[in-house]
Amino acid sequence: MPMTSTTPELHELSVAVLAQHLRERKVSALETAQHFLTRVKANESLAAFVDLNEDATLAQARAADQALAAGTAGPLAGVPIAHKDIFVTRDFVATAGSRMLAGYRSPFDATVVQRLGQGLAGNVSGAGMVTLGKVSCDEFAMGSANEKSATPPLGHTSPAPVRNPWDSCRIPGGSSGGSAAAVAARLTPAASGTDTGGSIRQPASFCGITGIKPTYGRASRYGMIAYASSLDQAGPMARSAEDCALLLSAMCGPDLDRDSTSLDVPAEDFSRSLNDSINGLRIGIPKEFFGEGLASDVRAAVDAALKEYEKLGAKLVPISLPRTELSIPVYYIIAPAEASSNLSRFDGVKFGHRAADYTDLVSMYKKTRAEGFGDEVKRRIMVGAYVLSHGYYDAYYLQAQKIRRMIADDFQNAFKTCDVIAGPVAPTVAWKIGEKSDDPVANYLADIFTLPASLAGLPGMSVPAGFGANAMPVGLQLIGNYLQEAKLLNVAHRLQQATDFHLRTPGGF
Ligand code: GLN
Repeated sequence: MPMTSTTPELHELSVAVLAQHLRERKVSALETAQHFLTRVKANESLAAFVDLNEDATLAQARAADQALAAGTAGPLAGVPIAHKDIFVTRDFVATAGSRMLAGYRSPFDATVVQRLGQGLAGNVSGAGMVTLGKVSCDEFAMGSANEKSATPPLGHTSPAPVRNPWDSCRIPGGSSGGSAAAVAARLTPAASGTDTGGSIRQPASFCGITGIKPTYGRASRYGMIAYASSLDQAGPMARSAEDCALLLSAMCGPDLDRDSTSLDVPAEDFSRSLNDSINGLRIGIPKEFFGEGLASDVRAAVDAALKEYEKLGAKLVPISLPRTELSIPVYYIIAPAEASSNLSRFDGVKFGHRAADYTDLVSMYKKTRAEGFGDEVKRRIMVGAYVLSHGYYDAYYLQAQKIRRMIADDFQNAFKTCDVIAGPVAPTVAWKIGEKSDDPVANYLADIFTLPASLAGLPGMSVPAGFGANAMPVGLQLIGNYLQEAKLLNVAHRLQQATDFHLRTPGGF
């Protein structure tokens, strides 16, 4: 397509508009892929991407063009996507940000990758998206800053933190920080993410983009390298709720043969109610989300978004989620417990790295795991093994499970008086690289507002709501009841029709 100065460039188009242009053959999938690959390579200093395979990307783009010409294309055919490096992929490495899986290639694609792409997942054919490459994440998705990946980003010879496109001295959030930075910098129109305790919502908030974690079980976990299986959930990250709805519709659906916790509910068209009126909508405001720990700049942006909702006819209803603070100790017992079990498979025998020198089997295990895992992963394996051990199981793990149930019940109680819940995603805007990197507890505390919905398995999203200190983006968190993703996306879309925060681009991109 000849571009004039008034025509937006390809990277400025939304997923919805780009898909339309591709369908109308105004632009080819091949040109589109080439355009984005060029941008990715020109912006290696962000450290967002960890792997490209241009031959594979261009082959997928040609296949998308053929399907578009033949009229057999999926709904998002030819639109590029970057996948978090926690999803296994055949054509790209799948390292989970760990030395343990350096250079690892999987013999198959994760269900989410297949459904968004051109493969067949079960008998569901893919949406036709083209994979641009893999993006950085914290090691095994443990982290809130994307400073803890051991996989060197493109153009780097050693590991490096992902940089926030709004201020390259700051973190993008984590663990899906590469996904958020890549979307914010317009290196890709969309990315996949995973959220165990906030890893879609918090980086989306810190980078000024939109992300949704669906109800636990909506998206298959097959081929998602496991961190904490009862919490891990995949979701889309893009600029707008409208785009997230398109992506989520393609990602979700039962996959019971391959993930026994996948929900047996049919895939939905999550775009169907985007434009519904929200007149009379009851938005629950949990008082525990607006306490002392909330920075005043974040509070001001969140309050302004809530005012906007009132103008749109919604009513703000005070609610209480009394165990919000307990979600931190509960999560940091349950998630490490599950991680210690999931990560036992990395033993030098079955997957990835094996120590070069060892004397016997036990020394091989020990050296392999000592070399392969980073500090944060080791810390969590030790915490997890401790809370599951005889004598401590009842005192910690079982207790945490009981409180987890109460946290879920608190939400059900709250949903008796409101339709959705709104509040901040994180207590502050993105912090400086290095500021909290030696203080794991400071990182854990910053998860306070995202953990409750994760523990309850509820859908949650982050919507750009304005800017705080140092002109850094602030996200509004919306939490819905089980399977209410379409409602959440509707509520988010209405805000995005009334505001332009999701359209703002960081300087230089
Ligand atoms: N920050 C949380 C953790 O470190 C959440 C991570 C995630 O959602 N993957 O566990």
